[in-house]
Amino acid sequence: MLEAEREASRLLVYQVLPSHYGFNVHHLRRADAIEICIGQGAKPGTGGLLLGEKVSGEIAAIRELPAGVDQRSPVRHPDWVGPDDLMIKIEELREATDGKIPIYIKIGASRVADDVKLACKAGADVIVLDGMEASTAASPDMLMEHTAVPTMPALVEAVEALRELGLLGEVGLIVSGGIRSGMDVAKALALGADAVSIGTAALIALNCNKPIFVEDYHQLGTEPYACRLCHTGRCPVGITTQDPQLMKRLEIEPATERVTNLLNTMTMELQMIARACGKSDVHDLEPEDLRALTIEAAIMSGCPLVGTTTNMRTLLHNLGQLGDLGTLAGK
Ligand code: SF4
Repeated sequence: MLEAEREASRLLVYQVLPSHYGFNVHHLRRADAIEICIGQGAKPGTGGLLLGEKVSGEIAAIRELPAGVDQRSPVRHPDWVGPDDLMIKIEELREATDGKIPIYIKIGASRVADDVKLACKAGADVIVLDGMEASTAASPDMLMEHTAVPTMPALVEAVEALRELGLLGEVGLIVSGGIRSGMDVAKALALGADAVSIGTAALIALNCNKPIFVEDYHQLGTEPYACRLCHTGRCPVGITTQDPQLMKRLEIEPATERVTNLLNTMTMELQMIARACGKSDVHDLEPEDLRALTIEAAIMSGCPLVGTTTNMRTLLHNLGQLGDLGTLAGK
């Protein structure tokens, strides 16, 4: 936690990473929430490598690392191996913060129902569910494109798991991954999320992938709109870099205004949709406000297919045939 970050943040979530880079109990106590990061939608089940180029003197000091040396970002937390240990870890974190700070558990959407149940058993106050669309975490294309469950069906599965445990509404649910408009937020809230978080959308507002300094994109072997090379530390628009010359390309004041506009617009869109559905509070949006346009969407979301009133997801569950449409068609 940087002092400037703390001062500038009304709410600050402090992540506890498997790498424990820069972990500091004094910072923990100044957070508004603690998020134990177990997985990410861009690469569930894997860790990563922080290239030495990105470990500048300043970053090395903040993260308590040797400067310029590649760092392995492990996937597993070194101090616990399963939900029973995690329960103890959470108790330790509560003790360190006098039980005043809520504890989130962030999971990459994969075995969603099992993971949600394990997180609840460990004592999470809030589950953060990161879907497949979340990017990029310097992840290989193979993992980004072919692993994890998309955000909306993952959310539906998480809500079902919480309902099964009788904890829906008691344990909070935040979703992330591909949320980029007020409509995305409205759908997520209607399906049962308490809140959403955004990452890439804010980066785009900062200028990520913008077709400026195009030659620099080419030098990296990529193009504007197709760049996913944050891990190189050579960000053409100056966002994900520690190079002082490149950093100057990110003009803080106009960038702040663009992100503010994005958040205000998303909020206004969300409010407009809620009003259109006759709701006076965005949290009153509900599955009944949604209809699915395809059979697949109807099954994944549990929302009736347009022109019907049948919940195909429930129907399939009841038939014990979820995932076996061929057998259902045969019947
Ligand atoms: S390197 Fe910069 S432009 Fe490229 S994806 Fe990352 S933030 Fe966007």
